[in-house]
Amino acid sequence: MTTKTQITAPGEAPANTGVAVIQVQDLRHQYDTRVALDGVTFDVRAGEIFGLLGPNGSGKTTMFRILSTLMLPTGGRAVINGLDVATNPNGVRREIGVVFQAPSIDVKLTAEENLRHIGHLYGLRGQALADRIREMLSRVALSDRARDYAETFSGGMQRRLEIAKGLLHRPTVLLLDEPTTGLDPGARRDLWQYLQVLRDQGITIIVTTHLMEEAERCDRLAILSLGRLVALGTPAELRHEIGGDVILLEAKDPESLAHHIEQRFGIEAAVLDGKVRLEREGGHRFVTEVVEAFPGEIDALSISKPTLEDVFIHRTGHRFWTENETGKTDEGSTTKKKNKNQHG
Ligand code: ADP
Repeated sequence: MTTKTQITAPGEAPANTGVAVIQVQDLRHQYDTRVALDGVTFDVRAGEIFGLLGPNGSGKTTMFRILSTLMLPTGGRAVINGLDVATNPNGVRREIGVVFQAPSIDVKLTAEENLRHIGHLYGLRGQALADRIREMLSRVALSDRARDYAETFSGGMQRRLEIAKGLLHRPTVLLLDEPTTGLDPGARRDLWQYLQVLRDQGITIIVTTHLMEEAERCDRLAILSLGRLVALGTPAELRHEIGGDVILLEAKDPESLAHHIEQRFGIEAAVLDGKVRLEREGGHRFVTEVVEAFPGEIDALSISKPTLEDVFIHRTGHRFWTENETGKTDEGSTTKKKNKNQHG
């Protein structure tokens, strides 16, 4: 039985029409007693790159597995191009291309052989298949490497071959789970450029990430924390909600300084990682007032424009990274640590 509510006809590539291609409604998932998704609702529009951003344990993989029909949700609904993932998984699979985090190409085969193999699984043969393979390799700029073994490819090229594989049956939606894991910064930037090209060709893309710089490249984002949707919008909209600058103050007694600032200026001052954190328009003027109000109490200060991590802190009251996560990105920079007991 199909549960087709007419949103977008299967097989149509609805380029940038603003139509909801994916509808996630009150989606819930529980593993035994552990709640992984706690009533998440959002729409993904045609022809956009939609990011699912969240720290480890926030529910990204669970969401990805449900949307890619690998797992049934325990509650709520997810509909792709009008087809319900729970009641019509086969229909949904025709609509979506999926790129998993774990590599799925055979490096002992050539690029072409990898695609031929998957083409056979889709029932493609002969000239039609050869044409399709050529089209897909060209889409991911691997035409000149068609006959080379995948083991000779760089990490970025192997990922692009994975994408070509995911696109072989010409889906209108592409789902990617942390696609840049293990790639160097150059390859990561390249991959995002390819995703943008595919988006411009009308493919709707959902990508999970825990990297802020990747989230910034998405057209819209859902930010997850502990299975809940904590923010939804374009990166600019989300940053804008902070309304000003983010000020961090270092002091010997941050708790006392925060308390005094709240009393004196009537604004919220939080202590995070041993620093007083304020959100304030006209940060430069304000810090002058604070420094003058509490002479000798402030050891160091910084003022910055809000980032997506600030949005996360603003919405959840805690940092993105847990203490036992290194937060190490592939660029080798160790990102933030945060207080214990904030993520499961
Ligand atoms: P993310 O991908 O953002 O790291 P996950 O969807 O993997 O998040 O996990 C969400 C929550 O569900 C976490 O608390 C995690 O420990 C739990 N979880 C994930 N997979 C399983 C599983 N197979 N069995 C039990 N709990 C799980």
